[in-house]
Order: sequence, then C-alpha cells, then structure tokens
Amino acid sequence: MAGVWIIAEQRDGDFRKITFEAASAAKKVADEVGGEVTALVLGSGMGDKCAELGKYGVAKVLCVDDASLADYTTDAYANAAAALIKDGAPDVVLLGASMQGKDLGGRLAAKLDTGIAVDCTALAVTDGKLVATRPMYAGKVYADVVVNGSPQIASLRPNVFDVVEVGGEAAVEAASVDLGEIKAAVVDKLVAEEGKIDLTEANIIVSGGRGVKEAENFDIIEELAGKLGAAVGASRSAVDAGWRPHTDQVGQTGKVVTPNLYVACGISGAIQHLAGMGSSKVIVAINKDADAPIHSKADFCVVGDLFDVVPELSKEVDK
Ligand SMILES: Cc1cc2nc3c(=O)[nH]c(=O)nc-3n(C[C@H](O)[C@H](O)[C@H](O)COP(=O)(O)OP(=O)(O)OC[C@H]3O[C@@H](n4cnc5c(N)ncnc54)[C@H](O)[C@@H]3O)c2cc1C
Repeated sequence: MAGVWIIAEQRDGDFRKITFEAASAAKKVADEVGGEVTALVLGSGMGDKCAELGKYGVAKVLCVDDASLADYTTDAYANAAAALIKDGAPDVVLLGASMQGKDLGGRLAAKLDTGIAVDCTALAVTDGKLVATRPMYAGKVYADVVVNGSPQIASLRPNVFDVVEVGGEAAVEAASVDLGEIKAAVVDKLVAEEGKIDLTEANIIVSGGRGVKEAENFDIIEELAGKLGAAVGASRSAVDAGWRPHTDQVGQTGKVVTPNLYVACGISGAIQHLAGMGSSKVIVAINKDADAPIHSKADFCVVGDLFDVVPELSKEVDK
C-alpha cells in the first residue's frame, strides 16, 4: 500500500474530534499494511495546528492555506482534495461521515472515479484490501464492503472509532492547488447556542419523543441532560410537532449519533429512530409501554411514566 490519507475536518480553525478518530483509525490500517498516514488539511491559518496531528499517528500533513477554504464549500474542498489525492495516489482515503464528510465524500469519489463506503463502523484489512463494515437498510444489517477502484475511500461514523494517542509531531508541508471554479459561497452562519453540545460529538444524549407531550415538558429532559453534561435529542414526532428544532432530530432523516449513553424518554423505537441511535454503546429506555420496540434494543429498560422517572433520575444524579 502506498499509504493512507485522511481528510482532516476543521471548523473555525479548530480540528473536530472526527479528525482525531480518522487519524487513529488510519494509523491502525497503515500499521497493518506498512504505509504511512498523511493528513490533508484544508483551511485558512491552520498551519500552526497541523503538527499536533502527529499525536494521533499522522506522519505528514499537507496543508493548503487559502482564504476560500476557511469555511467548507463543496466545490473548493472537492477540487482541492481531488487534485492532491490524484497527485499523491494513496491507496486508502478516510474522512468523517459527518455532515461535511457526507457531502464531500460522494463528490470526491465521483471526481476520482472510484467507490466509497459510507458511514463505516469498523475497518479491517484483508489481502491488502480495506474491508469496511457499514450499516444498510436503516441499520437492519451490517455489510462488509470492499471498494473497487483506487483510492479506496471510506467515511467513518463519528464517535465510533477510538482516539488513540501515540505521541510525536507530524511533518508539515505547505501545498498549493488550483481550487477551480467555486460556485457556492458561505454568506451567513447560523451558530447553535453557545455551550450547546453537538449531538454527533456528545458522549451522553437524553432524547425525548411524542411521550413528552408538549414543548414545555422538555424542561425535565433539559434538566437531566444539564446534570449529566449531555446533549438533548428528539424523535421526529417531537420535531414535527414543533417542540424541538430539526437540528435535534435523531434518526434516518436526522442525525446519526453514537454516544456512550443514550437515554430515550417517551420514544417508541421506530426503525427510523433506531437507524440514528442504534449503535449507541449503552441505551436506556424510559417508556410506560412494556411492549414498546425500544425496549428490545435497550440495555436498561424502565417501564414507567417519564414524568415520574426523569425527575427522579435528576435527583439521583444530584446525589
Ligand atoms: C421516511 C421516514 C423517515 C423517518 N425519519 C425519522 C427520524 O429520522 N427520526 C425519528 O425519530 N423518526 C423518523 N421517522 C418517524 C418514525 O417512523 C416514527 O414515527 C417516530 O420515530 C415516532 O416518534 P416517537 O417514538 O416519539 O413517537 P411514538 O411512536 O408515538 O411513541 C411515543 C412513545 O411514548 C410512550 N409514552 C407516552 N407517554 C409516556 C409517558 N408519560 N411516559 C413514558 N412513555 C410514554 C409511548 O408508549 C410510545 O411508545 C421517519 C419516518 C419515515 C416514514
């Protein structure tokens, strides 16, 4: 293998956690096949931060510094990444299956005329080929897939791959590339409330569904989440009812999350909801219906009224 590349993800000049996860996963792949890990950093003013990627196993960073790359746009990022990947000819390219990575990965694969395994939850190497495990049919089955074509591209589900620190600094090389025609520009950013934990990066999520009954009742969900240092999520029913913003929606048409702990309150566990949170490490279901499908997915089932159980849990956390 010629090497494993990752496409780093930054927002407002800071690397996102998925970058460290992808670097650690890439190091494992590279260790098995003998190549080095190279990170592609696209942004503006990122130069000083690049060396720190060495901590996660990156040997070399190619840093493209351009004001047009400060914010993500599909054209600029796909053009830059495709040109550098064609030049460097790595065998494997990994990126996050984040909002940005989902947008970039497909475009990149098309530009490079290769395939992509998206939203992968495990990686292995067999006979020198990357074998990626990914959910299909809303998480009903997990398939092992091999990408035909070169490079083999895979996007990694956030929060699934461990961040492993191996120490050291990466060698940083400035790279320049023609960004081509950029057809879109960022004109405004709607920034989430200060201090709000990003659902896709949260270690703990407390989610509410139709069982919460009205927007104001989410106060008890917020309270428990606040005490646990958790993000608040919601089912589509709660979002469609206007009780929560769409950015809180977990599921097939919302966000895919993989926290260490997912507490589902008044959520039935429809397949479309499970598709978004089914790979959480520990699932707690609070539902008054003992036959609700969420209980068959949960590690801990509380059959009871959430209006009794959730405040009690908050009190227990206080203790
Ligand atoms: C194409 C498509 C995409 C979809 N995408 C998504 C998606 O991304 N995310 C998503 O969530 N859904 C999605 N859905 C909708 C999904 O099918 C379900 O309708 C939805 O998840 C149900 O939400 P819910 O569990 O909150 O509500 P319900 O199914 O109505 O369940 C409410 C639950 O609350 C319990 N309950 C009621 N009162 C209490 C109480 N006091 N205490 C404890 N428990 C109580 C009930 O027993 C029940 O189990 C999608 C559907 C389609 C067709």
